[in-house]
Amino acid sequence: MEDGIIKEVSENERFNFDCQCQVPCFNQCCRDLNQFLTPYDIIRIKNHLNISSTFFLEQYTETHIGPQTRLPVITIKPAAGHERKCPFVTPLGCSVYEGRPSSCRMYPVIRVLSRSRESRETHIRYALIQEPHCRGFEQPRSLTVKEWMSGQELEPFNEMNDLMMDIISLKTRHMPGYLNDDIKRLFFTICYDIDGFRAEIGKSGNPFIQIPDSVIDDDVELLRFGMAYLQDVFT
Ligand code: SF4
Ligand code: SF4
Repeated sequence: MEDGIIKEVSENERFNFDCQCQVPCFNQCCRDLNQFLTPYDIIRIKNHLNISSTFFLEQYTETHIGPQTRLPVITIKPAAGHERKCPFVTPLGCSVYEGRPSSCRMYPVIRVLSRSRESRETHIRYALIQEPHCRGFEQPRSLTVKEWMSGQELEPFNEMNDLMMDIISLKTRHMPGYLNDDIKRLFFTICYDIDGFRAEIGKSGNPFIQIPDSVIDDDVELLRFGMAYLQDVFT
């Protein structure tokens, strides 16, 4: 897609935007796909589809190695055809709307988190991206960045995605370069294949110090546990 104009904004800044089936560009952003998925995105979408993360990864995603982080990253595999459409887009809109990924919810807002290495204090900045194909900015509805994020129910996504950013930052700092196959596989399983991770724990008789069943049985709690473990691995 075409390059857009990026403008830094504050959380309480108002902008005009609406995205619903009446906009002339409806569904246009769901093609020419380059859609990254975070660990929490995968949990939400695979649970919405009522399938395992292992099956979801096989059917709907591609794995790459991040050029800077050297960590596995996951993107949605576009449907066949030159338009590179999202496999979940239909003429009526997103077929996984309730489970849609954070980047689909956030657009056209960009949220950037930075954390001080010394004080661990966090700083969040926001920007709006205005791309020529997106006509949502021509709509009369006015709202703040905060209202947009609240309407998109982004809070749990942001919380879990921020934990992922911490892991990436630790890895980049302490283990730059390529990971060995064992750590790469561990990272992939914990972060992206939560059902595979659960099965591994069961198979090997729980290699970790006592994980309560309430954690093992809950995708998000298990992801939190796994991410804390990865933090130790990368420290
Ligand atoms: S998940 Fe839904 S909103 Fe996101 S690109 Fe696919 S069809 Fe569009
Ligand atoms: S208004 Fe923007 S975000 Fe909404 S469908 Fe159109 S291009 Fe996509």
